[in-house]
Amino acid sequence: MARIVMKFGGTSVADLDRIRHVSALVAAEHAKGNEVAVVVSAMSGETNRLVGYVDALAADTNLGGDIDDEYDAIVASGEQVTSGLLSIALRRRGVKARSWQGWQIPLQTDGAHASARIKGIETLAFNQSLKDGVVGVVAGFQGISPQGRVSTLGRGGSDTSAVALAVALGADRCDIYTDVDGVYTTDPRIVPEARRLGRIAFEEMLELASQGAKVLQTRSVELAMNNNLPIRVLTSFAQDGEPNPGTLVCAEEETMEERVVSGVAYSRDEAQISLLRLDDEPGVVARVCGVMAEANISVDMIVQGTSRREDSANLVFTIGRRDLDKTLATLETNKKKIGFDGLLYNDKVSKVSVIGIGMRSHAGVAHTMFSALAEKNINIEVIATSEIKISVLIDSDMTELAVRALHSAFELGVS
Ligand code: ASP
Ligand code: MG
Repeated sequence: MARIVMKFGGTSVADLDRIRHVSALVAAEHAKGNEVAVVVSAMSGETNRLVGYVDALAADTNLGGDIDDEYDAIVASGEQVTSGLLSIALRRRGVKARSWQGWQIPLQTDGAHASARIKGIETLAFNQSLKDGVVGVVAGFQGISPQGRVSTLGRGGSDTSAVALAVALGADRCDIYTDVDGVYTTDPRIVPEARRLGRIAFEEMLELASQGAKVLQTRSVELAMNNNLPIRVLTSFAQDGEPNPGTLVCAEEETMEERVVSGVAYSRDEAQISLLRLDDEPGVVARVCGVMAEANISVDMIVQGTSRREDSANLVFTIGRRDLDKTLATLETNKKKIGFDGLLYNDKVSKVSVIGIGMRSHAGVAHTMFSALAEKNINIEVIATSEIKISVLIDSDMTELAVRALHSAFELGVS
């Protein structure tokens, strides 16, 4: 007997037929004598629909004011529906099941509505229910704040619900079912030769997720890594009897595969800001970052260079494109405080990254990468590196070309 957490994303529970199918997958695990907890997302498209309602009402007045607590109350409802429906589908198969909302477990979070962090999970009642042979169907994405309000964990947050629950329950396995059959070397829609990885290290998955690969929410990978809980990513769309090995996200020692680069990720959701003729003195970058942090905008790649005017510098950095308007307003308001002379921005940029733990011990990755891009005449705006990643910022029209060139330069399609 094992204790298993199974998570199903929006496309896996998109309609009643998909929910019936999922109930068969859950029933099969339960029939093996396992204790099964299930975490579900809302039906695909549902969260966007609910967010749309909130946005439409929020636009009614420019009085502003915080509405994030009510946003959470609204958008969390999608998961309430699917958890109930899946419980019914399970009961119709003769499997004992019940739904659990975040507040019922309870899954406690902080009070940062719309992007709350999990503080703890009370497992007493839930545990007992599992031991009694009842499948617990948990509404993902949601919890309860210290004020007793409904909170949500940020978009894609049910992955994090699943991993956190698996950790709290001491689960043997955490299986994340989605609409792709695993983690790929890159987006197969761009590179048809992209290959499913059998295993990938936590660190690599973390970089892939935060660099734009959308299979798992970044926080869920962080949490799995910190608790050394392997996650299996697999499809809920496999035909009966078809092998479905998926990708195991696990500790580096267990990846076994010898490779320098594991994947190429890209993100089109970037914008580049250039501040011109800043005073070239200690503290200036700190002032820029301070102003941005105060406005709750995260700054990603940063480069400082000299400008043509003596004693002055230019600072280039990137932000998420959705923060562009807010960034421009924030910088304009703080122009004096920061002390810059000109501001340029470009929202037609993409970030393309190559990722691999093998980079730590192999030289030459940068050379291969930059040569491949040069050969395709792709101009690089900004470069950022970490121990296991090199990212470049390029013209967004070049995204596909760059991803294809890098995937083939690192021979990722060949096993
Ligand atoms: N339904 C939520 C979303 O669409 C959470 C999730 O699916 O993970 O972001
Ligand atoms: Mg998801």
